[in-house]
Amino acid sequence: MTTEHPGFVLWMTGLSGAGKTTIALELEKHLKARGIKFERLDGDVVRESLTRDLGFSAEDRRKNIERVTFVAKLLSRNGVGCVCSFISPYQSVRDHVRENTTNFLELFVDAPLDTVIARDVKGMYKKAIAGEIPNFTGISDPFEAPANPDIHVRTDQQTVAESTQIIIEALESRGFIPVISNQ
Ligand code: ADP
Repeated sequence: MTTEHPGFVLWMTGLSGAGKTTIALELEKHLKARGIKFERLDGDVVRESLTRDLGFSAEDRRKNIERVTFVAKLLSRNGVGCVCSFISPYQSVRDHVRENTTNFLELFVDAPLDTVIARDVKGMYKKAIAGEIPNFTGISDPFEAPANPDIHVRTDQQTVAESTQIIIEALESRGFIPVISNQ
């Protein structure tokens, strides 16, 4: 059974390894359990399909998000909640997503650079620091941290469960998902 709710776009931005996918997967469990109609769009997955022809230059990064925006626009205006996890390092590009989708929320998945380098989930930072990966966000390419995000989680200070709870409460308080009564 699905629950009636408006479409929305929960846009996770943050450095590679900050925890976007991890939190999106945890959130997915909660949304499923509540019968929320949603779709998860993940940077790594999209880059293997919809945008596999694109690289990491500023222009290709813009095109990558432009295509995802088109998908999120169609879904969000048809009552689907989109959980989008993309590094999306440029504020102007994130603002463009906001302007073109329904009920957009910018979620900053924040972890300091030294934390993500220490995690180095995919071994990419080691290579980027060694100069083997050009245009690597945080090392050889900029990351413009959101100046005024709708939601801000700190994955170096919170557990996955704590960050997820903050996000769920933000979705509830805006009426994007129904509040579950404990009584
Ligand atoms: P991203 O999608 O932002 O590139 P991932 O979710 O793939 O990041 O990787 C984040 C890594 O950090 C995972 O290995 C995860 O287990 C770990 N991690 C440690 N603490 C946290 C936390 N509090 N929140 C999210 N991820 C965390």
